[in-house]
Amino acid sequence: MGIVAFCPNGHRINVKDSFAGRKGLCPTCGAKFRIPAAESAIAAVGSALPTARLLELAPAVVATLPRVLPLDEPAFAPASALAPLAPPPPALHPVLAERPDLTWCIAFPGGEPTEPLPAESMQAWLDAGQAEGTEVVWRSDWPEWRPARDVFPDAIP
Ligand SMILES: [Zn+2]
Repeated sequence: MGIVAFCPNGHRINVKDSFAGRKGLCPTCGAKFRIPAAESAIAAVGSALPTARLLELAPAVVATLPRVLPLDEPAFAPASALAPLAPPPPALHPVLAERPDLTWCIAFPGGEPTEPLPAESMQAWLDAGQAEGTEVVWRSDWPEWRPARDVFPDAIP
């Protein structure tokens, strides 16, 4: 059993239940649309239960849907077609991923520290291979600066 969705231009798209509530691209015209969270999605989650029991449980099942079906993930179109819709963020270094909400500063030997940088900018700095290992870095929950080489030993040559 699937869900029938319609893109803003009226094209009919059949999608799997597991994509309910997500976003997708119309395979015909490329328009963005949101796949409705149909009753069938609830049925899919609780398919092992008899219908009467399922209806009884439905509010609880619905409450869990945001975790089961994250809205920010692309639905079903090929990865290439989805790229403009939701470019995946670069994978963060574990120390960055630990607290992606915190900001960072970098201080270069003999130089002024940078403005506070988000974790993504730190990752870009590491990815660009610009770190030399002589810098010190600070995360906004740390009491003191730490050598960049100690914080990112695997990312700095
Ligand atoms: Zn369309």
